[in-house]
Amino acid sequence: MIRYLSKASPKNLKGTAVLRLDFNTKDEWRMRAALPTIRLLLKHSSKIVILSHKGRPKGAEKKFSLKRDAAKLGRMLGKKIIFLAGPDFSKVEKAIAETRAGSVLVIENLRFVKGEKENDKKFAKKLASLGDFYVNDAFAVSHRKNASVAAITGFLPSFAGLELEREVKLLSRVIAKPKKPLVIVLGGAKAHDKLGVLKRFRKKASWFLLGGAAANTLLLLRGVDVKDSLVDKEKKDISNLRRVAGYRNVVLPVDVKFGNGKILDIGGMTSFVFSGKLSKAGTVIWSGPMGVFEKKEFSFGTLAVAKAIVGNKKVFSVAGGGETVMFLKKYKLDKKFSFISTGGGAMLDFLADEKLPGIEALKK
Ligand code: ADP
Ligand code: MG
Repeated sequence: MIRYLSKASPKNLKGTAVLRLDFNTKDEWRMRAALPTIRLLLKHSSKIVILSHKGRPKGAEKKFSLKRDAAKLGRMLGKKIIFLAGPDFSKVEKAIAETRAGSVLVIENLRFVKGEKENDKKFAKKLASLGDFYVNDAFAVSHRKNASVAAITGFLPSFAGLELEREVKLLSRVIAKPKKPLVIVLGGAKAHDKLGVLKRFRKKASWFLLGGAAANTLLLLRGVDVKDSLVDKEKKDISNLRRVAGYRNVVLPVDVKFGNGKILDIGGMTSFVFSGKLSKAGTVIWSGPMGVFEKKEFSFGTLAVAKAIVGNKKVFSVAGGGETVMFLKKYKLDKKFSFISTGGGAMLDFLADEKLPGIEALKK
């Protein structure tokens, strides 16, 4: 059983909360999703120490600092946030001790410290020493075995935050009884993140509609000349990918748009084929844009897919992933989905029934 914050007795929420969030998008929607948990903690706890990561920095790269994110969160909450430049923990500890009750603090990008990604116990213990209990409200990073997600729960009483709870409960329902036909749309830049779902839903999904790097990789394996397109080069995945390329329900683009010798979007014919399948779906799960939508000329495939899903009035639609949701928000289509997950890779792993280290850690 997962220990939920919503069920915790207020007396267990006294003192300082160490709260893991995920600020890892260019816009602020993931941050906004965490506000209910922050507000709940402000009611019961004396201080909140927020931990997050951003990007994949090599050491303490300034452009990955959380300083601005902290300010943004402050504006959202209407409250001054104290930002602690790290990663010197002796100073952080002292700074926390000196703040007044009711303070919210944000610590610098955890990935500036090597121990974070290595799930290092010593580092986790240091993080744990900053508070009295731990809350994970970062579903999007819960598939990563990181110190602030997994190992930290060995040192503090730990709870799942409100957004994490919502995600787990809703996605569990989708796995248990998807209304048929089930159509899964996969795109984006990370092909191997998508593999687990393809294997797990091989029999359950009527169709897999593929764009982005996953499509490029499978097209390549089917012998298509994809030139300099982004493909998955992870050697260990190749045999799996080869198998997936042979699934009868995998639909690959029949035409594509090139730019600079790279496939950057699905073509008009493909959009038409995908839309046809989406308009008849009972359930749609979508992660990863069909093309490099950040450039207008390569945004049409993603827009066509989004419109086809939204146009299907009977469908139960789930979309997740940093960029996918950013896209939907940009076109004001997010509210028309049945459920928006903060997780991309995490959502797919969860749906694929893989054990997420961050969620397993909350079951102890
Ligand atoms: P999400 O965050 O929604 O889970 P990813 O992080 O896997 O998705 O990938 C998002 C990125 O994928 C977008 O920034 C988009 O530009 C890029 N992308 C989509 N299609 C392609 C393509 N054919 N080649 C290169 N990049 C692509
Ligand atoms: Mg992304």
